[in-house]
Amino acid sequence: MKKHNFYAGPSILSQYTIQNTADAVLNFADMGLSILEISHRSKQFQAVIDEADALVKELLEIPAGYSVLWLGGGASMQFAMVPMNLLAKKAGYLDTGVWASKAIKEAKLFGDVDVVASSKDRNYTYIPKDYTVPADCDYFHYTTNNTIYGTEIRKDPEVGNVRLVADMSSDIFSRPIDVAKYDLIYAGAQKNLAPAGVTIVIVRDEALGHVDRVLPTMLDYRTHVKKGSMFNTPPVLPIYSALQTLKFYKQMGGIRELEKRDLAKAAMLYEAIDSSKMFVATVPGHEDRSIMNVCFVMKPEYAELEKSFIDFAGERGIIGIKGHRDVGGFRASLYNAMPIESVKVLVDAMKDFEETH
Ligand SMILES: *Cc1c(COP(=O)(O)O)cnc(C)c1O
Repeated sequence: MKKHNFYAGPSILSQYTIQNTADAVLNFADMGLSILEISHRSKQFQAVIDEADALVKELLEIPAGYSVLWLGGGASMQFAMVPMNLLAKKAGYLDTGVWASKAIKEAKLFGDVDVVASSKDRNYTYIPKDYTVPADCDYFHYTTNNTIYGTEIRKDPEVGNVRLVADMSSDIFSRPIDVAKYDLIYAGAQKNLAPAGVTIVIVRDEALGHVDRVLPTMLDYRTHVKKGSMFNTPPVLPIYSALQTLKFYKQMGGIRELEKRDLAKAAMLYEAIDSSKMFVATVPGHEDRSIMNVCFVMKPEYAELEKSFIDFAGERGIIGIKGHRDVGGFRASLYNAMPIESVKVLVDAMKDFEETH
């Protein structure tokens, strides 16, 4: 039976990515060797990372003066690397969930942190809007898409002259970004790009070198800028997969086309939820709803049917819709690689379940 993969991360990848990665595991670039066993200094792998850099820049229309880095350690490592490299005195943070909170915790190790607003009071089911970022912050950090709660900030915050930093782990490549507004963007690969193991960092070169603290070599962005992400052995296989996904995105028509598809998928599912008597979305404000992670629960009078719906959906090949433990209910992740046909299968399952229960 065809599986419909709604996992939140690691998550669905295009068949193009998976097939090409499988081929390279057996025979990479006609070398007669697996990509698992070749030198990262080989000219064949250098070509991979060069092309991946170039495609990120092309797809996101990154202006001159920025570097694209491929680092280990996950997005969680960036929670610490960002303040180490950018926080001299004080930084502003927006608290929109668990990932934002973890970033705040790390930043506090390196300076003053002004949490300008938080939506914790209602379990992060909305995006705080009335806040100002103090002008004396070294940077302002926010999470564009809150993977666990299904909220998303699609409009760049107003920060005046303060440097802007964003964790875009779960919505990068799903919409155009005005990169020029940002000094640093990071994203763990395992939501919308590649298998786990590589984190993409887009950094304005000029933003680096303004803190006094001593930085360990590996945790200094300048090391990786200077060495083209090849200071040490980079995550070779995830970078190869990322390149395949980037090529796939280009073939699909680029970021604007992907956004159009993502918006259509999300609209289809939210419409089914909003018109249902059984299901209800956990994020009430339409403008705050994520197009990547759609969170919903059973209305209280049907709450005991939650487990049976997961089983019912499972019989139709629907995988990974159990909600995060902090939210409960269901979460359907609709990353770029998911076809709208799979969303239709889920919507039909919801309707059929409602009719039969
Ligand atoms: C998944 C996720 C993370 C954590 O990523 P790791 O690579 O596991 O460290 C951080 N931020 C957001 C928004 C995420 O979705």
